[in-house]
Amino acid sequence: MKPAAFDYARPGSLEEVVSILAGAGGDAKVLAGGQSLVPLLNFRMLRPAILVDINRVPGLSALEADGTGLRVGALTRHHTLETSRLVRARFPVLATAMAHVAHLAIRNRGTAGGSLSHADPAAELPMLALLLDAEIHTRSPAGSGRHAAGGFFLGPLVSALAEDEVVTEIVLPGLPPGTGWGFEEFAQRSGDFAIAAAAATVTLEGGRIAQARLALTGVDETPIRLAAVEADLVGARPGEALARAAAEHARTAVNPNSDLKASAEYRRRLVAALVARVLASAWARAGGGAP
Ligand code: FAD
Repeated sequence: MKPAAFDYARPGSLEEVVSILAGAGGDAKVLAGGQSLVPLLNFRMLRPAILVDINRVPGLSALEADGTGLRVGALTRHHTLETSRLVRARFPVLATAMAHVAHLAIRNRGTAGGSLSHADPAAELPMLALLLDAEIHTRSPAGSGRHAAGGFFLGPLVSALAEDEVVTEIVLPGLPPGTGWGFEEFAQRSGDFAIAAAAATVTLEGGRIAQARLALTGVDETPIRLAAVEADLVGARPGEALARAAAEHARTAVNPNSDLKASAEYRRRLVAALVARVLASAWARAGGGAP
């Protein structure tokens, strides 16, 4: 398949990017790694008048830690997030999750900004952004903007970005000391999108759970946080009975669809199994021992 004809621009600054986007009146698409956009063009599911290639815009590939946490430039490749020492030290849950994104060739090109903007409901990075309370920084003709990850994913392949708004970086606030993490994914084959995946962070204080975060992907129209399950965990002591109760709570809290890969009931059972495992890993890493 070949895409419909389009114009191509490769601006050298963010100002030019947003000016072209604004001038195109919604008929332009940002091109980052191209790993999701190009297949959509080839299938003619998208026919933008112009592609705005941001790969030559300086400053979009920074990956650095400062007082606020980790700053991930929009053009940071998935493989960089997977292998960076900084990410492995500060956010090992993120590095671990990124190894599950597609295949190496795709991870070499796919970008953090592209994955969030594309908002695939089975993707790993949107789930991690939700889990880690990321802030998504943008630029538009109106200036700089910020979106909390919690309000960013609106539906399958739909984000809160305006047509003339480009993601510039993702900021992950630092985790409190004593925080453990867990990540589990179930897919038909290595490299496939998840049928379901779960991630957790747990902070222990005095042997009790002071903070718990739990996120899922592949089981709804967007990645989700399980706020009610998280609330039930706070104040409790980690243990097998608690993991079982949280897993059952999560199973009944989700409302997945059936599709060719799995029935809704199968996904609910997967959620229970994955939640129990990520919690067990998270509180073991937080120093709570095996549940
Ligand atoms: P592009 O394809 O360039 O763009 C995607 C969309 O985002 C477009 O609408 C584009 O306009 C917009 N966009 C890109 N960057 C920005 C920006 N900075 N600001 C505003 N809008 C922007 N992903 C997973 O998460 N898990 C998987 O298991 C997985 N498996 C895959 C398997 C295959 C075979 C393929 C082809 C892809 C798979 N992907 C998977 C998708 C892959 O991770 C993509 O790289 C990613 O979703 C999009 O990143 P990109 O940089 O390639 O974006």
